[in-house]
Amino acid sequence: PAIVENALSLAKNDFDLKRTYDFKKISVNMYFDTDVPKINCIETEIEQVLLNLFRNAAQAMAEMPVPQPEPRIDIRISKHDNSVCIEIQDNGPGIPDHIKKRVMEPFFTTKGPGIGTGLGLSVSYFIITRGHGGQFTVSSVPGKGTTFTIDLPCK
Ligand code: ADP
Ligand code: MG
Repeated sequence: PAIVENALSLAKNDFDLKRTYDFKKISVNMYFDTDVPKINCIETEIEQVLLNLFRNAAQAMAEMPVPQPEPRIDIRISKHDNSVCIEIQDNGPGIPDHIKKRVMEPFFTTKGPGIGTGLGLSVSYFIITRGHGGQFTVSSVPGKGTTFTIDLPCK
């Protein structure tokens, strides 16, 4: 939870983000299980992953033909048997299937030059899987929104 708060305050003050979107307009809702155990992780790396996801969500909601009038990001942290699950859900445009297959590829971006590097998700994938032995997945319904799921083992 503290890591999520840190990443959120980074997102709120994110200068790059302000050029495209004001994060403060997004309604952020947090649903945290109370019994989530502490996990062994490199906090700055997890923070970076979360910041990437918040940025992507904010940019996606801003870039819709009509910007999402009620942009929201829901954050859920829940305890599973041997892992902790963090879900970041937005109500943005969603990701069409042919693009969804590619979003974790290095340098894959649908954003213009100078805006997207296409590295956010590939680096996030690497941090969660190789770096932390976890899982990083995306699910999305075009027109409804996108959910990224991080699953971190409790060592
Ligand atoms: P970048 O943000 O620099 O484009 P990323 O690796 O972070 O690179 O994301 C790759 C692509 O995945 C984005 O260009 C966008 O097309 C898509 N994407 C990522 N997150 C979302 C989201 N929350 N909603 C819709 N599309 C997304
Ligand atoms: Mg990105």
